[in-house]
Amino acid sequence: MQHNPEPYRIKMVEAIRQTSREERLRLLEQAGYNLFLVPAEAVFIDLLTDSGTGAMSDRQWSALMRGDESYAQARSWFRFYDVVKGITGMEHVLPTHQGRAAENILFSEISKPGLVIPSNSHFDTTRANIEFFGAEAVDLVVPEGHDLHARLPFKGNMDLDRLEALLKAKGREKVPLCMLTVTNNTGGGQPVSLENIRGASALCRAHGVPFFLDACRFAENAWFIQQREEACKAMTVGEIARAMFACADGATMSAKKDGLGNIGGFLALRDGALAVRLKSALILREGFPTYGGLAGRDLEALATGLEEVQDEAYLAARIGQVARFGEALKAAGMPILEPTGGHAVYLDARGAFPHIAPEGLPAQSLTVALYAEGGVRGVEIGSLMFGRTLPDGTFQGADLELVRLAVPRRVYTDNHLGYVAEVAGEIMRRKGTYGGYRIVEEPPFLRHFSARLAPVT
Ligand SMILES: *Cc1c(COP(=O)(O)O)cnc(C)c1O
Repeated sequence: MQHNPEPYRIKMVEAIRQTSREERLRLLEQAGYNLFLVPAEAVFIDLLTDSGTGAMSDRQWSALMRGDESYAQARSWFRFYDVVKGITGMEHVLPTHQGRAAENILFSEISKPGLVIPSNSHFDTTRANIEFFGAEAVDLVVPEGHDLHARLPFKGNMDLDRLEALLKAKGREKVPLCMLTVTNNTGGGQPVSLENIRGASALCRAHGVPFFLDACRFAENAWFIQQREEACKAMTVGEIARAMFACADGATMSAKKDGLGNIGGFLALRDGALAVRLKSALILREGFPTYGGLAGRDLEALATGLEEVQDEAYLAARIGQVARFGEALKAAGMPILEPTGGHAVYLDARGAFPHIAPEGLPAQSLTVALYAEGGVRGVEIGSLMFGRTLPDGTFQGADLELVRLAVPRRVYTDNHLGYVAEVAGEIMRRKGTYGGYRIVEEPPFLRHFSARLAPVT
């Protein structure tokens, strides 16, 4: 069959409004050319993130009504715990209000100056939490992960040779933990093979280093494994997910992604002694361990979402939609990272705007253009997010200049995304008219969220 139709139909709709180009140019100026600061109501197609932006199902909305808001040992907690334990096989579950809270609690205990924490690619909040508590966050993705156009199945894999060299050189005294992000969000939403997860886990085990998954998109990753890894073709997505978690000593998760929720996350662990220490931090920052940062109704909706996300018909429709979106963008002349990943299409801004140097933040320029021309909001993953000015004053750009167009789960139709591709085509026809940007104001951490910019004239 050519089609993978969505295994659901639409019961409720939410109006969205297109603005005029003049209005958008004015809003951009007011927002310091930072799309995080533009009012959502003035965005027509919002592809800023797939985090917390999904549509909940009728089952999830009904689950909300069954939320038990008891402070301690609520029924909803046991339901959430059973589902998370069923997927991860991990005994200790700490519910948090989102993924970064799980990271913060974990790294407040683990990350210290002088230590190194490797990953395939750390997500920005993970990196920020690690660096905030003093350790160094290193990315060890396979070399093909940096190749925008190599059509390879598992470009999110960890470079096991470099991981082994790091573990040998530093030992467990200097490497308190190893992370692996599935799918690899920062690296283009590219999946990690089960073979690679097992390999990374075995290396960590051999060196006595705890191995953690950043499991935000575990179901999308499991679906790719089923489709692309010969040895796993006969396994269900649920079985693959359990096999992935079986390799890990712990996991952090933002349930705003594959939890199909609007808010939520968790930290899951096998080590009971570590769980006891982290629960003290959880109580201080989030709440009592059986609700953490969440209401009982959120725990119910997430438990249902974590079950629904493993539906293979849903995953085929979702990942198929992302792939079709990528094809439409390419057909419109926009260079993209290939193959498309699970949750987003990443535009290659260096390829689109070769006339803008890294200092001119080409990916931000493309992000601004998408909004100015079509009311489309994406997010820059380039030198605004990762560039640095070195002590000697030289600018060190990011490895890749990308614009991520993340596709919210169960929200937009192919028609919406076809429109976005058309906007991208218009931009490519006039690409020489777009200029660079410079930062005029920035905070010390996660600057892309709140920096203000100005066009370079
Ligand atoms: C979203 C995300 C996080 C952080 O989760 P939040 O819920 O946004 O705090 C961490 N890692 C990855 C890979 C993510 O995509």
